[in-house]
Amino acid sequence: MKEIITPKNNLPVSEIRYIFPFMEGDGKNKHLLGGKGANLCEMTQIGLNVPPGFVISTEACLAYLDNKGTELPFGIMETVKKEMNAVEKSTGKLFGNPDNPLLVSVRSGSAMSMPGMMDTILNLGLNEETLQGLIKQTNNERFGYDAYRRFIQLFGKVALGVPDEKFDKEFEIVKHKAGVKVDIGLNASDLKEISEKFLEVVKEHTGKPFPTNVYDQLEIAIKAVFNSWMGKRAVDYRREFNITPQQANGTAVNVVAMVFGNMGNDSATGVAFTRDPGTGENVFFGEYLVNAQGEDVVAGIRTPKPVLELQIEMPDLYKQLEDLRNKLETHYKEVQDFEFTIEKGILYCLQTRNGKMNATGMVRTSVEMAKELLISKKEALLRIKPDLLEQLLHPRLDSLHKSTPLAQGLPASPGAASGACVFDADRAEFLGRGGEKVILVREETKPEDIHGFFASQGILTSRGGKTSHAAVVARGMGKPCVAGAEGIQVDIKLRQAKIGEKVLHEGDYITIDGGTGFVYQGVIPTVDPTFSDELKTLLSWADEMSQLKVFANADTPETAKKALGYGAMGIGLCRTERMFNDSNRLPIVIEMILANTEVERQKALNKLLPIQRQDFKDILLTMAPRPVTIRLLDPPIHEFLPTKEELIEELEHLHQLKSTTNGVNNLYNSLRLLQAEDALGVSPMPFNNKGLELIDKAIEKKELMLKKVHELYEVNPMLGHRGVRLGITYPEIYKMQIQAILEATAECQKVHIDVRPEIMVPQVCSRLELIKVKEFVDEIQQRLEAENGIKLVFKFGTMIEVVRACVDADELAKEVEFFSFGTNDLTQATFSFSREDAENKFLPLYVEKGILEHNPFEVLDVNGVGKLMRMAVDFGRKTKPDLKIGICGEHGGQPDSIAFCHTLGLNYVSCSAPRVPVARLAAAHANLIERKQ
Ligand code: PEP
Ligand code: MG
Repeated sequence: MKEIITPKNNLPVSEIRYIFPFMEGDGKNKHLLGGKGANLCEMTQIGLNVPPGFVISTEACLAYLDNKGTELPFGIMETVKKEMNAVEKSTGKLFGNPDNPLLVSVRSGSAMSMPGMMDTILNLGLNEETLQGLIKQTNNERFGYDAYRRFIQLFGKVALGVPDEKFDKEFEIVKHKAGVKVDIGLNASDLKEISEKFLEVVKEHTGKPFPTNVYDQLEIAIKAVFNSWMGKRAVDYRREFNITPQQANGTAVNVVAMVFGNMGNDSATGVAFTRDPGTGENVFFGEYLVNAQGEDVVAGIRTPKPVLELQIEMPDLYKQLEDLRNKLETHYKEVQDFEFTIEKGILYCLQTRNGKMNATGMVRTSVEMAKELLISKKEALLRIKPDLLEQLLHPRLDSLHKSTPLAQGLPASPGAASGACVFDADRAEFLGRGGEKVILVREETKPEDIHGFFASQGILTSRGGKTSHAAVVARGMGKPCVAGAEGIQVDIKLRQAKIGEKVLHEGDYITIDGGTGFVYQGVIPTVDPTFSDELKTLLSWADEMSQLKVFANADTPETAKKALGYGAMGIGLCRTERMFNDSNRLPIVIEMILANTEVERQKALNKLLPIQRQDFKDILLTMAPRPVTIRLLDPPIHEFLPTKEELIEELEHLHQLKSTTNGVNNLYNSLRLLQAEDALGVSPMPFNNKGLELIDKAIEKKELMLKKVHELYEVNPMLGHRGVRLGITYPEIYKMQIQAILEATAECQKVHIDVRPEIMVPQVCSRLELIKVKEFVDEIQQRLEAENGIKLVFKFGTMIEVVRACVDADELAKEVEFFSFGTNDLTQATFSFSREDAENKFLPLYVEKGILEHNPFEVLDVNGVGKLMRMAVDFGRKTKPDLKIGICGEHGGQPDSIAFCHTLGLNYVSCSAPRVPVARLAAAHANLIERKQ
C-alpha cells in the first residue's frame, strides 16, 4: 500500500485517525462517524451495555474513494486488527476461532440515512470451521446453517456482486425437493445443502472460492461499504434531494460484535418503548421472546410476550432492563424505541432512537415529561410539530379499514365523514333536517349553498382548490372537505355523479377523508377527536410563551362557541355575508338587490337590521370580553342571486308549467262541452286559475332577477364591484350593518357587559374610502350615544388585501385603529393568480418543478406577499406606533406563515376554529425558536 495525502486536510494518512472504538468516538459527530456510528458511541459512553465494536470514519471512505476505490488508506487493516483484538478481549470470543468464534456485523452509516447504501452483513466471520463452533454454542444446527446460508448470500450479493436471482434459483430447487413452500419448513440438512449450493454459486460467478479467511471477509466488506457510497441509487438520491457534502460526505463502517438471543433459555431478544407510544402513558411497553433471535420477534413466527412478563421469567434481567429504560430517558430526554438482546444472562442494548408516536402519545409524554422535570416546558412544546395536533381535532378514519378509494381530490378541510350523497344544498338541508347524514356533492359551491353546508357532514367538490369557497367555508365550520376531485362528474338533473364507470345516485353512501383527499364508497368507521386535559395543559403553556394572540374566523354564535372551546382569544374575522345566506334571510337579501330605488332598498334593509343586530349581539356576548372583528359586506351582491343559466332553466320550467296549466284548463272546459264535468273532479293546484296567477308571479320575479343578473354581470367579479366599493355605491347597506353592530354594542354596554366589537372595512385601496365609511360610523355612533346616554367602545379598522393598501398604509393608518391582512386576496393580487383557477390548473406543476416552493395560497409567500406586508407594517406603525395588526387570511393557521407573522411583529393571527390549537402551538414555537437563535 502506498501512502496517500488526502486532498481535504493535507495530512499524511498515517497521521489521521480513521478508527474509533465506541468508547472513544464523538457521539455528536455524525458527519465523521455517521448517524449509526455516533449513536453507538454515545450509547456506549453513557454506560449502556452495547456489544463492543468500532467505527471506521467517513474520512476513511473519502480517502479510499480518492484512491480510485481500490486500496484502503495505508495501515487501516492493521488498526482494524488491533480493534478486533480489543473486541475479542471484551467478548471473550476469538475472530476465526472454531471453538468460540467471534462474529460481527458490518453496516454502512452516513450522516443522513439514504437508500441505496449497503445492506447490513450479519454473522461475518463464519466459515466451515467457525460454523461448527456456533452450532455447538447454540446447540442448534438448524440455526447455524440458516445463519451461514444467509451470510453467504448477503456477502455474495453486497460485497461480491453476485445477483440475487442466482441464489434464489438454488433456494427454490431445494425447497421444491423438500416439498415446502416457506423457509421455516426447511430443516438443518436442507439448509446445509443450500449453503453448499450457495458457495458454488459464488465460486462460479466470481471465479474464486468464497473467502474463508475472516480478515479477508472483513476487508472485502469494508471496501464494499465504501463503494456503496458511490452506488447509482445513493448518488441519484443525493442529487434528487440536494444532499450536499456539508450535510453528509462519505459513509462510515460500523463493525459490531454479534450477540445472540438464541443461545438457550438464559437468552432472549426484544424491542421496547420507554413509554406507551399509542397513549403516551408512562408504562414500560414492549415485547420479547426467550431463546430467539431478533428476526423471530419481527417475523411473527412465535408470538412475543409483553415485556412485563420478563419480571417473572428473568427477574434480575428485568431489573436491568428497567434500569436501561430509565438511563435511556434520563440521557436522551425523549421517549426511546430500543432493541435489546440477552445473551447467556447478559443484557445488551443494540440500538435506540427517538420513538415515533401519534399525536395523543406526543402530547401526553410532553406534558408528563415536563411535570417529571425530565424536560422543560419549552422543550415539551418544541418537540411537537404544530400540524400534528390536527390529528386530535377531527374525526378520522379508523386506521384498520382496508377500503380502496373511488377517487381522490385535494385534502381541503381535515376530518372524515360518511353520509348519503346529495347534489344540491336544498336537498341536503331537507334530508339533513330529517336527521339523515348527508355529504353535499357539487361541482363547486357558492355562497347560496351555505344552508347545505350546515346540514351536511362533509363537502365533496369536483372543481376548485384548497382555498375554493367550499374549502374555506368547510374549514371555518370544522367540517371535512375534499375539493377538486376532478374524476367525478356531477349531474344535478339526474341526481347522480359518475366516477369512471361507477355511478353514485342520490342516497348512496360515501365516505370522504379531508385529510388525504380520498373518497370511498360506503360507510367507513371513524374515530372521534379528543381534546384531553394534557392537550389543554400543553396549549396553556403555549399561550404563556407566545407573543402572537390567536383568534378565530367565525361567522355564527355556534362557531364562536366552538372557537372558544379551541381556545380562541377573540374573533379576527366574522364574514357578515354568511349570515345573509341563511335560507330565511336570502329572500330579504334578494328583495334588497332587486330594489330599483333607495326607498325600496331601505325597506328590505329595515327587515334585515333586527336580524343582524341579534346575530352580532349573540356573537359579542359569546366572546365577551374578547374582541370580535366584524367585516362589512364583501362579496359582489350578484353572488346572492342564482346564475343566469339557473334562472333561464327555471323560467323555461315555469313557462312549460304555465302551458300545462293552460292545457288542463282547456281540458276542464272541454269536459263541460262534453257534459262530463264530474269525470275529473275539482282541478287541483297549480292547475287552476289561482295556480296560473302564482306561476305568472313567479315568472315575473324570476325575469326581474334575470334582468338584475344581466345588469350586475361582471367579467372579473373578484376584482369588481365588491367590498368597500359596494359600501360607497350603496351606502344604505353599510349603514344598516354599522347600525346593527353599534346597536348590539349599545344593548350590551348599557348593562355593563364588556363587549369589544371592531368594525372592519374590506377591499380598501385608498384613505378616502375609509374617510367615507368613517363618516357613516361617526353619524350612527353619535346618534346612538345620544339616544342611550353612553359612550360606545369599539374599534374601526381596515383589511389590507389589495396591493395599493400596502403601499399606501401610512395614509390608511391615519383613519383606523387596526389593520388585518387578508392574505387570500393579497396573494391573489400580488401574483395576479386567480385562486379559484390556479390551484387546479398550474400551481401543482409549478410546485413540482420547483418554480414555486409552495402553493402560495397555503404557505405565505414571504418573498413577495411578505415584503408587501412588511411595508404595510412599517408604514402603518410609522403613522401609529401602537397600531394593532393581525392576519385573517387562510395563512393565519399555517405554522410557517405564523412564524413569519411573528417576525413581522403582528399582534394576532386569526384562522378557522379547528386550526386554533395548531396556531397556538405554532405561535409559541415562533417565539421560542426566535429566542433560541
Ligand atoms: C382574505 O382575502 O384573506 C380574506 C380573509 O377575505 P376573503 O377570503 O373572505 O376574501
Ligand atoms: Mg378578502
